[in-house]
Amino acid sequence: MPDEQPTDDQTGTDPGVRAPHGPLPEGGTVRPITRWGTPVMHRPQAAVTSYDDALAALAADMVATMYAAEGVGLAACQVGEDVAMFVFDCPDDEGVRTVGVVCNPVLTLPEGKDRRLEDDDEGCLSFPGSFEPCPRPDWARVDGQGLDGEPVSFEGDGLLARCLQHETDHTLGTVFGDRLSAKARKRLGKKHDAAAEDYPLSWPADAADPAETAAG
Ligand SMILES: [Zn+2]
Repeated sequence: MPDEQPTDDQTGTDPGVRAPHGPLPEGGTVRPITRWGTPVMHRPQAAVTSYDDALAALAADMVATMYAAEGVGLAACQVGEDVAMFVFDCPDDEGVRTVGVVCNPVLTLPEGKDRRLEDDDEGCLSFPGSFEPCPRPDWARVDGQGLDGEPVSFEGDGLLARCLQHETDHTLGTVFGDRLSAKARKRLGKKHDAAAEDYPLSWPADAADPAETAAG
């Protein structure tokens, strides 16, 4: 369920968390999450070429937004930015969490006899309130750059493998609904519509700002 899975700790620094390329950036602002159907979500994102303060600020906003939405991953297009970058904090099959930021992600998946598909439920914060099984390889590796432009590499199984694939898809303009049959897509849409009032267009920014909610 790449985008949708609660996480309990937000620092990314506790000893039970793997942060092979450093902790996630903090101090960002929670933004509304961009929905499927918005053009930026359905085209390949612009490659990151400047590893500057603006990029780091965007990553911090993405982290804050991911945690506010209780997600395990978030791509820049999901806060409306045409930038090939994602952040994640996601457990693997053993329940060990890995955190990271990846710019310009390149995915490597098992091939031949090593390729095994898992048909677990998947959901997306940009189409909230709905899940459908989506077959994907049970292991994945992503290579790219960190916020300092240095190479990073993350790999794993379980939900982490699904997350790395789901978020890399986002940077290429693909949403997981594109990978479902017409029938499954229809079921996904119905569940999403039924949950619509739980997810106003400002979500999760409204939930993170009680003052604004109180003001109506
Ligand atoms: Zn998603």
